[in-house]
Amino acid sequence: MPFQIDFSEARAAKPKAIGIDLGTTNSLAAFMDLTGPAIIPGADGHNIVPSVVNFTDADPVIGNEAKARLVTHPADTVYSVKRLMGRGPADVAHERLPFQFDSAAGNVIRLNVAGRQWTPPEISALVLRQLKRNAEAYFNEPVTQAVITVPAYFNDAQRQATKDAGRIAGLEVLRLVNEPTAASLAYGLDKRSNGVIAVYDFGGGTFDISILKLHDGIFEVLATNGDTHLGGDDIDDLLIQIGLEDIASEWREDVSTSLEAVQLLRRAVIRAKEELSFVPTASIDFEYRGRRYQRELTRPLFEQLIRPIVERTLEPCRAAIRDAAIAIDQIDEVVMVGGSTRIPLVRQAVEALFRAKPHTELNPDEVVALGAAVQAGILSGDVEDKLLLDVTPLSLGIETMGGVVSRLIHRNSTIPASATEQFTTAVDGQRNVLIHVVQGERELVKDCRSLARFDLKNIDPAPAGYPRIEVRFLIDANGILNVTARDQRTGVEHSVEVKPSYGLSDEQVEAMILESYEKAEDDLRERQVREARVEADNILAAVEKAKQNEAWFDLSDDEKAVVDRSINELLVVYHADDHHLIRAKIDQLNGSTLKLAENMMNTAVKGALKGTKI
Ligand code: ADP
Ligand code: MG
Repeated sequence: MPFQIDFSEARAAKPKAIGIDLGTTNSLAAFMDLTGPAIIPGADGHNIVPSVVNFTDADPVIGNEAKARLVTHPADTVYSVKRLMGRGPADVAHERLPFQFDSAAGNVIRLNVAGRQWTPPEISALVLRQLKRNAEAYFNEPVTQAVITVPAYFNDAQRQATKDAGRIAGLEVLRLVNEPTAASLAYGLDKRSNGVIAVYDFGGGTFDISILKLHDGIFEVLATNGDTHLGGDDIDDLLIQIGLEDIASEWREDVSTSLEAVQLLRRAVIRAKEELSFVPTASIDFEYRGRRYQRELTRPLFEQLIRPIVERTLEPCRAAIRDAAIAIDQIDEVVMVGGSTRIPLVRQAVEALFRAKPHTELNPDEVVALGAAVQAGILSGDVEDKLLLDVTPLSLGIETMGGVVSRLIHRNSTIPASATEQFTTAVDGQRNVLIHVVQGERELVKDCRSLARFDLKNIDPAPAGYPRIEVRFLIDANGILNVTARDQRTGVEHSVEVKPSYGLSDEQVEAMILESYEKAEDDLRERQVREARVEADNILAAVEKAKQNEAWFDLSDDEKAVVDRSINELLVVYHADDHHLIRAKIDQLNGSTLKLAENMMNTAVKGALKGTKI
């Protein structure tokens, strides 16, 4: 049995926790019924609450009625606000948005609607509050806790904005869950206890692909990828563009400057698009100021038009499969999520790529909310024995000598995660160690993102290479990173809490990952040269120091000459961009100082000759 409900427990005592799919286009809520997750019906009889808010009346109107007002009151009706969550004006500069916003107001977008300014979390909060009210009306009791889903690619700022929206709506956000993870919960629970599942989520505004592993009832996210700017909206925009061009030539009038006309056309193309998923032809039917535009759309033509959009979903799929380090034929199930997966061409493309028939049994609009309800059940204790693991989107590490990154936690590691590594000092008598925490896929610190810096102070002064500094990275279930550095000898310890992806735009994350693939070779070479130089520095310093030691004077003149010649030869190749050469000379110097080293009482040289230096 996948989960148990304890019937003996007093139900009324516990606050109700609901699951919410806060979508770009549509939102909906679900709860854990005694038999499983179930959708909470809306006040107007529709389950789906369009994520649209209208400000014409004194009180905001949310959902289907607001959506209807997109046509009659376009200027004070707001939609697709999820695209703006946690973003600054610069992030959305390239987007075609139907709202005015104040770009002077710092890094937070403020929409100018109905004579006042609104931040995206405030608008999302209105949608959440509507869902909360629907639930309260349905249960006839207060609802104060929720699990809210977010696209897998949301960065920390976007997640934070979503949490803020929940708080503004009067909901305690128990957990944010990735949408594909929630969908897999809704599907996976009763079906199988082991296997690999790909979740393909093609909605209105975002595309996500996740590769999940299910073992003994535990879902583990092996990899995620996607594009937060790819969805049914893009198909709509394409059809609107075609419509506007047609209308311009037929009517000899440009209606694209009229918000109302564009909204009417949007409605017409969406209707045609959605029909085409079920019938071979549909028509775009548009009326504006007494004039009519009509256009037949056949499925083959439609498919030809949207093929590039559908194909844009495939590369992230391949990337996720690569990251998960699995072969396509190891994927046991493919789950379809999101309204746009009703399009037959999308199903065909997915089936062809994964070479498996995708799951479409559950309503693709409801799957995410149902999974969120299961997660809410887990967190509020209604469902037991289910643990959800997620992954870190980028690698995390610290800076070591030469500006090189030493990675502690690798990209796509499951969280919660922890890693510990030993480091040492590079300078004799060093008292402070700078811990520089970085995030990224590149080999050098300069190409990664700096997350935090802190000093581990008052470590025991000792010769270089002696101290043992333990650095520990810990990422909790919410993705918050904690870094601790500890001097093993004295127990002196310092730690900081870092938010791994705070402020990173998806473009930055994607660009960093892409760049890492492109630059991998150059990076590796540069890293090897730098590491070789650091090693050369160390051995040169150590030998210099050893030459002050009595042991040096015990060597014969010949032996001394060999050492000096090796030093000079290493110095000659030091600046060459050839790590093989540098290493060869290091080896030579190492060999020539063997006797010296053996003779020396001071083992600090040996200590300095090895180990990674901070
Ligand atoms: P989101 O998660 O982004 O809020 P949804 O999963 O609710 O989005 O999907 C909304 C998108 O699905 C819209 O672009 C809508 O037009 C599209 N959609 C819904 N039904 C169909 C259909 N029958 N055929 C094609 N697209 C559809
Ligand atoms: Mg969705």
